[in-house]
Parts: sequence; structure tokens; C-alpha cells
Amino acid sequence: MELLEVLTQCFSPSGREDKIREIIKEKVAPYVTDVYTDAMGNLIAHKKGNGKKLMLAAHMDEIGFMVTHIEDDGFVRFTTVGGIVSANCINRCVTFENGVVGVISYEEKEGSNNPNPDKMYMDLGVSSREEAEKLVSIGDMAVHEGPFKEMGNCVTAKALDDRCGCWALIRALETHQKCPNELFAVFTVQEELGLRGAKTAAYAIEPDMGFAVDVSFTGDTPNCRKASLSLGEGPGLKMKDSSYIINPKAKAFMLECAQCANIPYQLEAAAYGGTDAGGINLTKSGIPAGTISVPERYVHSPREVVNKKDLENTARLVRQMIETEI
Ligand code: ZN
Repeated sequence: MELLEVLTQCFSPSGREDKIREIIKEKVAPYVTDVYTDAMGNLIAHKKGNGKKLMLAAHMDEIGFMVTHIEDDGFVRFTTVGGIVSANCINRCVTFENGVVGVISYEEKEGSNNPNPDKMYMDLGVSSREEAEKLVSIGDMAVHEGPFKEMGNCVTAKALDDRCGCWALIRALETHQKCPNELFAVFTVQEELGLRGAKTAAYAIEPDMGFAVDVSFTGDTPNCRKASLSLGEGPGLKMKDSSYIINPKAKAFMLECAQCANIPYQLEAAAYGGTDAGGINLTKSGIPAGTISVPERYVHSPREVVNKKDLENTARLVRQMIETEI
């Protein structure tokens, strides 16, 4: 779990993925033919093979906040970067790249019921614009503070979305024994802003098939919205979300890999959400795509929760996909 801790605690909001990219690059380089970074910032670990092109994508970015305005009394206004849920931010800490800490709160008269971000602010613990400007500038970004902790059979931290996927893809690369396909393991950027990195990477690679490895919400907490995934029951094979509908060939490949390696899995169909599979799917004249999901509670909060067995089984499934001819 040490690597997952390092990955989750790295500052890496959408568009600022440079730090985590260096960590991942060092980890995967020994296991592939070459590693390169494209103009968008995607990290592409490429392994030569004689078969068709398989793209596996895990996104490196996390949701965050960007400074838009500093008030005379030192309070900082912000815009959200990705799908921030206001209720998950109130009276919680965020951290800037330079280590500056802020507490997010809301205009009291507006009420605390999931306020609009423009009625929220960051308190940097200073009392004037001059002091605040010494700490942060317009355009600077912050992320949730969410230390990594083990808890029962689970772990909790910020940014498990999608450092879980990055972790599983790294583990699969480290442990794979054969590679019949031409493999492109892509650690993508800006997924949280609309699958941006996956789109440009898929355009350049033009894979025959592509899969995202990402987290997905569960339906296993008290009185929650219905969803098929539960923690601890294995990775989800996602049939649909707002970004794509599964291609029959991609579905068959995922099922074949899970069954052949005896990996527990759960079928999943979601009414909302999106993954890099959606970006890959709509590239060029269309690419069969699917998603492997790590079941996750409290998605897009500073305290996301995933099960350790699910992590292991997701890495095993990704490895099996690398080792299976598409
Ligand atoms: Zn994600």
C-alpha cells in the first residue's frame, strides 16, 4: 500500500500532473520498451508487440480548486476544477502546490445546503489582500487534503479516484509475464475536465481496443442510491455510463479475462458519470472501449474509500488483459 499512499498524496490537479507523472515514469520504465510524454502531458508507456494495439488508460489528475479573486479582507474566491461537491468541502482543508493551507467555507446567509461555489471562499488565515497575495496568486490551484489511512479491509484518502487505477496499471506492468498485443499503457491528464487527455492520446495511438481503469461509485451504504457495485466483491465491468455504451467485443474481452483468471467481478451499468473509455470510444472512426472499475465509496470527497482486495483483483485483471490477445 506504500505506493498507493505516495500516489494519493501527490499534488496533481487537472492540468498540473507533472509531479505524479515523474513518479509513475520511474516506476514503469523498467517494464516497457519506451516511455514518453505527449504535448497534453499524457505519460505513455509503450511495449512493442506483434499483435493489435491495446490501450489501457488510468487518469493521473484529481479534482481541485483554482483561485479567481482575492477579497480586500484576504478571503479567496475560487472556481472548481472537475466535479467538486460543495457539501464535501465545507470547513475542510485544501492545500496549494507551495504548501499553503486554506479552509473552505461558505457565506452563512446562503445556508450550508450544498452552496454554489461562487458563494464559497477559502480562508487562508490572513486578514488582508496583501497578505493573501504573498501566499497565492490568481490561477493557483489547490486540492483536497486527505491523508492516506488504512481502515478495516479498506483504505481511505483523497484522490483514490484515480490513483487506484494508476496503481493497478503500474502493478500489472510490473508483474506481467507476456505481452501478445502492442501495448500502450497511458496515464492520462485532465480526465476530470472531460476525458481530455484520453481523447488526444487515443487519436495519436489509434488503438484497436481501449480500456479505462477507474473508480466507480457503490450502492452498499445505508439508504443510498441504488447501484450494483459493493466493496470487496471484485472489480466492476462497466456496461454503460454517460460517456459510452459497451462495445460487444470489449465486453467479451473483459469477461474472458476475468473468467479465465478466476477473478471475482461485478457487472455495472450507470446512469451517470464518465471515464476515459468515453474519450477513447469516440476517437477517429470509433474504437471499441470499456472500463474496469474499482468500487469506491464517497467519490470526489477528501475521504474516498476502497477495499484492498478489490485493488489486488483489479491489478490481476489488468495484468490478465495485458497477457491476453485482443
Ligand atoms: Zn476517475
